[in-house]
Amino acid sequence: MIRWQRIQKEASKIAGRGITIHGTTALPEDIRAFVKDDAKQVEIVLNMKFNKTEKDVVLSLAHELAHVTLGDEGHGDTHTDEAKRIEKSLNSALERSKARGTKVSKPSRKSDRT
Ligand SMILES: [Zn+2]
Repeated sequence: MIRWQRIQKEASKIAGRGITIHGTTALPEDIRAFVKDDAKQVEIVLNMKFNKTEKDVVLSLAHELAHVTLGDEGHGDTHTDEAKRIEKSLNSALERSKARGTKVSKPSRKSDRT
């Protein structure tokens, strides 16, 4: 299960503006994800072929979000470090939500919809 809403919320926090995440099967084989950033809104497009687990999604988003927070399309050490920082932050947000989830004794209607 991929917790899209929590991931999207946390990603928006990191980017400091609204984020839309799209998934598609229409990308070339060698592209895992890409980002379109126009100051107001950030759009991240994920290649569904490479983003099948929550871990894959977190890694892809961390990579793309690092371009957003750095305002740079490059792939040097700075980008690698920033992507790692973002990955940790996304994972800790997901961990927090997992910890809260364990307190729920029976499934709610809400969780059926996710
Ligand atoms: Zn990149």
